[in-house]
Amino acid sequence: MPFNPELWFTEKYSDFCGFTFKVKEVLHTEYSKLQRLDILDTYEFGRIMLLDGFIMFTQRDEFVYHEMITHLPLFAHKKPEAVLIIGGGDGGSAREVSRHTYLKRIDDVEIDEIVPKNSIEYTPFVGEGFKRENVNLIIGDGIEYVKNKSNMYDVVIVDSTDPFGPAEGLFNSEFYSNVKNILRDGGIVVAQAENAYYDAKWMMRSVNNMRKAFGRDKVTIYQAAIPTYPSGSWAFSIAWKGDEHPKDSFDEKRFNELDLKFKYYNPEIHKAAFVLPNYVREILESD
Ligand code: SAM
Repeated sequence: MPFNPELWFTEKYSDFCGFTFKVKEVLHTEYSKLQRLDILDTYEFGRIMLLDGFIMFTQRDEFVYHEMITHLPLFAHKKPEAVLIIGGGDGGSAREVSRHTYLKRIDDVEIDEIVPKNSIEYTPFVGEGFKRENVNLIIGDGIEYVKNKSNMYDVVIVDSTDPFGPAEGLFNSEFYSNVKNILRDGGIVVAQAENAYYDAKWMMRSVNNMRKAFGRDKVTIYQAAIPTYPSGSWAFSIAWKGDEHPKDSFDEKRFNELDLKFKYYNPEIHKAAFVLPNYVREILESD
């Protein structure tokens, strides 16, 4: 066989297209009872975590996702004190939430212990989130964790894998009803909700099941530009228990007092993220 120094990875978006890039080195592969985990080092995007062959994050653009899934709901909430992250086993969401040092409780419920273990070792730029003293990592199923609990959290962040396997139940109406119960008055839930371009049906599964729990007028989506996620235009479904729409309830005073530095999030993007292209509006309104 001829010596071929090149190794390429492709994430398939459909049976007919995908996203391919050259791999420098496969740093680690491990199987748990739930999924396969790979850590790749790549020329274009730095280190990448794959779960079952899907990109979880890349070193180069993870900041977009982790800033937008955390700071938008946290600054939209009037006075958050307790935050629940479900999934988030890489630690990126925990890293960002823990920067809100006024929070009294940050719990991260991750179902598979190999994810945080390997993130801390191979991708410490996100794994560092579990080293923050105000972050409490719980290994468990987020579906079970929210059952039979009420009034515990102000913000719930569902940073899960795609709606298959262990994450499938994180997109259904029973789960969102339990999330509504575990949220205090004025609470907000945000979930990664795939994308409108390739996976509109999965996005709408999250939206419609949130609507069943929170009511149609208390659910919408916002988007962020994430180059290494399918379509580059990622959707987050958001639901709220209070009266004010999260795009309008931005807490400028707390934002200025915290004076955190961001690479993506800012007060203008907080509002602009809710402005949707016509084709996305049509999908949202069609169901
Ligand atoms: N940013 C990624 C994305 O948008 O696809 C998600 C990153 S994070 C690694 C996803 C995590 O969700 C994984 O570690 C997976 O083990 C976890 N997960 C899946 N189902 C879960 C469940 N039912 N309860 C808790 N964690 C779950």
